[in-house]
Amino acid sequence: MTEEKLILKEDLLRICDDVIKKGDTLLAPGKSEYVIVKDVSEIKLDPEALPTKISFKSYVFPKSEPVLYYKRSKNDVTLIDADVNGRKIVVLGAKPCDTGSIDIMKDLFNWDYRDEFFNLRAKHFIMIGMMCKTHDEYCFCTSVGCSPVSENGSDLFLIPLSDKEFALRIVTEKGREFIEPYFRFLCDADTKRTEEVLSAAKNPETAFDPDEVHEWLGRNFESPKWDGIGEVCLSCAQCAFACPVCHCFDIVDEDYSYSEGRRMKNWDGCQFGHFTLHASGHNPRDIQSKRYRQRINHKFRYYVDKFGKILCTGCGRCSRGCPVSIDIKEIVSNCKD
Ligand code: SF4
Ligand code: SF4
Repeated sequence: MTEEKLILKEDLLRICDDVIKKGDTLLAPGKSEYVIVKDVSEIKLDPEALPTKISFKSYVFPKSEPVLYYKRSKNDVTLIDADVNGRKIVVLGAKPCDTGSIDIMKDLFNWDYRDEFFNLRAKHFIMIGMMCKTHDEYCFCTSVGCSPVSENGSDLFLIPLSDKEFALRIVTEKGREFIEPYFRFLCDADTKRTEEVLSAAKNPETAFDPDEVHEWLGRNFESPKWDGIGEVCLSCAQCAFACPVCHCFDIVDEDYSYSEGRRMKNWDGCQFGHFTLHASGHNPRDIQSKRYRQRINHKFRYYVDKFGKILCTGCGRCSRGCPVSIDIKEIVSNCKD
């Protein structure tokens, strides 16, 4: 059984202060995105806040990063490895719809090729998740196997008992190693009280059954449904960039000069028209309806078939931020006859 302790907020902030003083990175939800905390007075730890507009994805999978450098001479090319920044990153107060995101992406980044850039960063993450006490009309974590009290992906998990104290669950060995030097701050927990708080969680209503959606998608690759969405969607890919688990990227060589340059890995998005554009000029996803169909099939069918996981945590970010109000929960809920 997961070990549980009680910690005062002021002591949790002392631990955070220590993380900052040691020179490790402390990330916490800010107003619209996760921010690097410079001073613990900036930490809000609000379980009633909605998910930030974008997740912490860029700290494990940067928007743009060099993967190697090259030098050309008359008869040769020399490749130079890029350095990976694998320093410790402590994420404080992540919502359950974010904590599991690294585990979901890990399968893709270790499938046909082991992406050591991603792996090294992921290895150095310490995830301190926190129970979520709110949801809006876009949230659907409970439809994709997550919930406001899910410890999935957390090394340590906080359950807010009041403004001043938390139950702290030690979920993984990594979490234990992190918290062990601070055991003096922890007291015995009143697990009955914690269970009362957990059972009062406000679950978003279950909107769909992912197995039924998977089955429907298998039968409806061609459907008028996709045409309707294709007429509205702007191909802006806000949905992909805000998403904690979307992971499309592109590889581009940038020449500094004739003799040297670097190879970059940059975020891309399957909603962009040029994403599947072949050098021949042929584009298998030449219209937006095909691209949006790909987005839904990838998340709720292909990823499930390949890795046994849904490529979605139900955070609702893509819908909240969509400039034309396309709501993924509504679309997936209607993937039925
Ligand atoms: S954010 Fe909305 S408009 Fe933009 S690509 Fe995604 S679904 Fe289309
Ligand atoms: S697809 Fe939308 S709801 Fe699902 S994880 Fe990505 S941003 Fe969140």
